[in-house]
Amino acid sequence: MAFLRDDFRLEQASCKVESVPRYKILIPAEEDLSELMPYLNAVARVVFYDPEEPVIVFRLDEKKVALRPFLAQLAEVGNIEEGRLWREKLEKYLEEVWARREEISPRHQPRTLPPALEIYKLLPQTNCGQCGEATCLAFAAKLSTGEADLSACPVLKEEKFAEAGKKLSALLEG
Ligand code: SF4
Repeated sequence: MAFLRDDFRLEQASCKVESVPRYKILIPAEEDLSELMPYLNAVARVVFYDPEEPVIVFRLDEKKVALRPFLAQLAEVGNIEEGRLWREKLEKYLEEVWARREEISPRHQPRTLPPALEIYKLLPQTNCGQCGEATCLAFAAKLSTGEADLSACPVLKEEKFAEAGKKLSALLEG
């Protein structure tokens, strides 16, 4: 079952990287994607989900993806070939989630990530850099936009931070 059509288009984004224009990819859907959304809400790295609209925003690797009933949108590509590759990658991911739907418990609740400061308060605040960020606050900022995963902080695995780790997981799970 194919979800996305081949006739996607690029639209120039307002941002440029070193004066080079960037584009967002707009991909019309073959099918209504609404039915997929609760399954994605259960397994994807979700930034935002509103079942009323409906719209879901999640991360596919480093890319931010927004799905509406008949439209998928991805941020920041440089050219049409890159757009094609990301379209294929997204199609494959949606097909995989749909194929596994029997084993996934769908999540119908709305979801939004907490603000960075709320996350930061529960982080170890050692600024050790092991997560790849210079500070815990920078890591918190990435968690609040879905760009990072909590598992990247090894310090949280230490016993003294176990409770904070559990609270953070619950906070990010919504
Ligand atoms: S690894 Fe954890 S404790 Fe270290 S800077 Fe990153 S978030 Fe902070």
